[in-house]
Amino acid sequence: MSLIVQKYGGTSIGDIERIEQVAEKVAGFRANGDDIVVVVSAMSGETNRLIELAHEVQKRPLPREMDVLVSTGEQVTTALLTMALNERGVKAKSYTGSQVRIHTDSAHTKARIREIDDERLHRDLKAGFVLVVAGFQGADEEGNITTLGRGGSDTTAVALAAVLKADECQIYTDVDGVYTTDPRVVDSARRLSKVTFEEMLEMASMGSKVLQIRAVEFAGKYNVPLRVLHSFKEGPGTLITTEDDRKMETPTIAGIAFNRDEAKLTIEGVPDTPGVAYQILGPIGNANIEVDVIVQNISHDNTVDFTFTVSRTELPRAEEILNEVARDIKAAKVSSNNKIAKVSVVGVGMRSHAGVASQMFEALAEVGINILMITTSEIKISVIVEEKFLELAVRALHSSFGLDAEPSNESED
Ligand code: ASP
Ligand code: MG
Repeated sequence: MSLIVQKYGGTSIGDIERIEQVAEKVAGFRANGDDIVVVVSAMSGETNRLIELAHEVQKRPLPREMDVLVSTGEQVTTALLTMALNERGVKAKSYTGSQVRIHTDSAHTKARIREIDDERLHRDLKAGFVLVVAGFQGADEEGNITTLGRGGSDTTAVALAAVLKADECQIYTDVDGVYTTDPRVVDSARRLSKVTFEEMLEMASMGSKVLQIRAVEFAGKYNVPLRVLHSFKEGPGTLITTEDDRKMETPTIAGIAFNRDEAKLTIEGVPDTPGVAYQILGPIGNANIEVDVIVQNISHDNTVDFTFTVSRTELPRAEEILNEVARDIKAAKVSSNNKIAKVSVVGVGMRSHAGVASQMFEALAEVGINILMITTSEIKISVIVEEKFLELAVRALHSSFGLDAEPSNESED
């Protein structure tokens, strides 16, 4: 017998029919003898609907009131699912975040979980109840309702799995797992049976939005085995786990991630003196603009060129700031380009395998793609390319690193 925390996302419980399907499924697990804690999101579209309602009434509602409002979406689904379970003869009880006593800080709309009082949960589990807990919410010290940020139900599920020491935290959603890359770009993208927390963070932060990033960080920190599965299709999904556990699994590279939301700024003819990097990037950082890839060339004529990337939405503001800096430090010129994209190969195997970078560059050269910038970390190599080459680059790398699915003999754990 094991203890499983299951989270069902908005589309999985988007209407009554689906709620009943989920209830059937949970009843099945229960019949197997497992202890089950279910975390639910609001019905799909509901959180957005509530936010729109708020803005019809007030332009900038107080965050405290927003939390009171948007937390209701999850309260509805907990009650309905619990009723559907009871109707099937399954003992179940619904809980809001504050009833479970998910203690958070007071940062309304983006609160962080501080502590969870699990006593009541243990008591109910022992008494044979399935617990249905509202995701995305908690309460601060004063009892004010707080929410954890969009997509926060994932974090609720992982946090509950951590405190209850669950055997697994299962995230049920509308995809059947984590893929080697976006299947809309590469037909032969393959579901990974295992991926490490670190790899998942790199993949998730770059577009494969299967899980809230904070939930993955949390799971890694507390070592919660996390599995992504399709709500209504049978299959093992993808297990997100530790590096030890993934060993002997996929080869060096787990996947190819990419991000279109990139723009680059170049400041040319910068006097080559100590402190210029700080003079350039300091004001950008002070404006809370996140800088991603940075390249500075070698000085010639005692001047350097300095290029960095920001997200596209930040480009206008970053350019304004950089123009001011250019005047101050007497740089020659500022230019920008927002038709670029980032492609990354991700894999913990890189730590022990040399030659990943050269294989990456070779694969891109073979299809005639020019690399504009390069950056590396321990488990990731990223290049900036012109946006029009993005899909070609992803496909070339996917096949070069042997990630394309072989239709007949898919490996399974
Ligand atoms: N309902 C919330 C949202 O839409 C939380 C969640 O679904 O995880 O962001
Ligand atoms: Mg979600």
